[in-house]
Amino acid sequence: MELMLYDTYERALRPFVALQSGAAGLYACGPTVYDYAHIGNLRTYLFGDVLRRVLALNGHAVRHVICITDVGHLTSDADTGEDKMEKGSRRTSQSAWDIAAFYTAAFQQDIAALNILAPAVWARASEHIQEQIDFIAGIERNGYTYRTGDGIYFDTQKLARYGHLARLDIDGLRSGHRVGLGDKRAATDFALWKFSGGPQRQMEWDSPWGRGFPGWHIECSAMSTRYLGALFDIHIGGEDHIPVHHSNEIAQHEACHHHPPARYWLHGAFLQVDGGDKMSKSSGEFLRLATLTARGFDPLAYRYLALSAHYRSPLTFSWAALDAAQTALNRLRLAYHRLPDGGQPDAGYQRAMQAELNQDLNTPRALALMWELLKSEVAGGAQRATLDWLDQVFGLGLAAWAPQVLAAPPAVLALVAARDQARHQRRWADADTLRRAIEDAGYAVRDTPAGARVERQAASMISNE
Ligand code: AMP
Ligand code: ZN
Repeated sequence: MELMLYDTYERALRPFVALQSGAAGLYACGPTVYDYAHIGNLRTYLFGDVLRRVLALNGHAVRHVICITDVGHLTSDADTGEDKMEKGSRRTSQSAWDIAAFYTAAFQQDIAALNILAPAVWARASEHIQEQIDFIAGIERNGYTYRTGDGIYFDTQKLARYGHLARLDIDGLRSGHRVGLGDKRAATDFALWKFSGGPQRQMEWDSPWGRGFPGWHIECSAMSTRYLGALFDIHIGGEDHIPVHHSNEIAQHEACHHHPPARYWLHGAFLQVDGGDKMSKSSGEFLRLATLTARGFDPLAYRYLALSAHYRSPLTFSWAALDAAQTALNRLRLAYHRLPDGGQPDAGYQRAMQAELNQDLNTPRALALMWELLKSEVAGGAQRATLDWLDQVFGLGLAAWAPQVLAAPPAVLALVAARDQARHQRRWADADTLRRAIEDAGYAVRDTPAGARVERQAASMISNE
């Protein structure tokens, strides 16, 4: 059965053919570790995880590399503004190195909580400075660079196919951006190496061009080449990377190696918040995985929610949608654990499910088939074995789950105690305000002869009934 993937470069569904039969190199642009990841970022890694698992289901040993951007990503994509790491350092009064280590660890915890398989390599930009310098030297040797007062730039006008990935209107872009160009020759040109300049930076290195730091895009060219070779199978990221970051990675690679780095380019659509705004680190509502768990949700309920939408469709986050996902996941877990052990997967369902997954990772259709299976006449043992097989891709940890009652988080318990005291002292208005705060956090408080009891409001309380 053929695996079809939507390749952004060709704007078409293409059968996946690995460069090396049975193996697949997969490179994912990772987080900029100046802050926590939000659940929008995490949606993109969930998409990468499903892709990796579907590749494995199709018999490919996957070599997955995720980069960690811990230097050189400026606050503006136009190579101006401050380094996000140095800015994060000022915000937290910690060194740029310390916050990189802290937010990398926080990110890896979120990844593990979502059952996202750890990559073969976590590639940190700051640990691959020499590879980046060598890559820039290769681009320079082939004549695609020029020097300005603040750095070494890529001359995009020398590359006829620049911007093909994004179908960029190059002439329009270049003529519309005469202002604010600085020393750059064209608006689409970008920095490969920036000179330190100004106040001393925490992260800077010597290079053949002077002391400074790498531009943001070069890290992925250098590290993907180091770990996957100059030509590898699949490059992925969020859809925002199409017009700038990935277009520039391709340009760098073509200038150095005369071909693009990867044979397939896949992009995940954004998670939006109610009202259609994208979720971003700098604007809008910033929801972390910890925000969801503080409200009593299971991280895997978010994984379920992500599986319920196709990766190329925008997904709008709402608490109601997450609650529905939690309820569905609880139902699925209970249904699974009621089924007897010892069957063989049902070949018909297996084929149908894999056909959906192989059709550009159609997880919503595979989920629908899963519920259909649970209502079907297929024997219980075969249902369970089919779910075990499918969970290799869904990663919902069905077999490992054990029934439990989720306790209310400490913040909610503190509100309950404060309300008890207010009632005791007959401060009824205060008690009402506190009750509303408890309800806003997603819990209901019930007064019983034994004292106040708190429980999760919606149907997502896990029970063993
Ligand atoms: P960053 O940490 O900003 O470099 O982003 C890390 C990854 O998250 C990139 O692949 C982005 O494309 C992706 N990303 C950023 N915002 C969102 C969002 N709202 N929904 C889905 N993916 C996102
Ligand atoms: Zn990248």
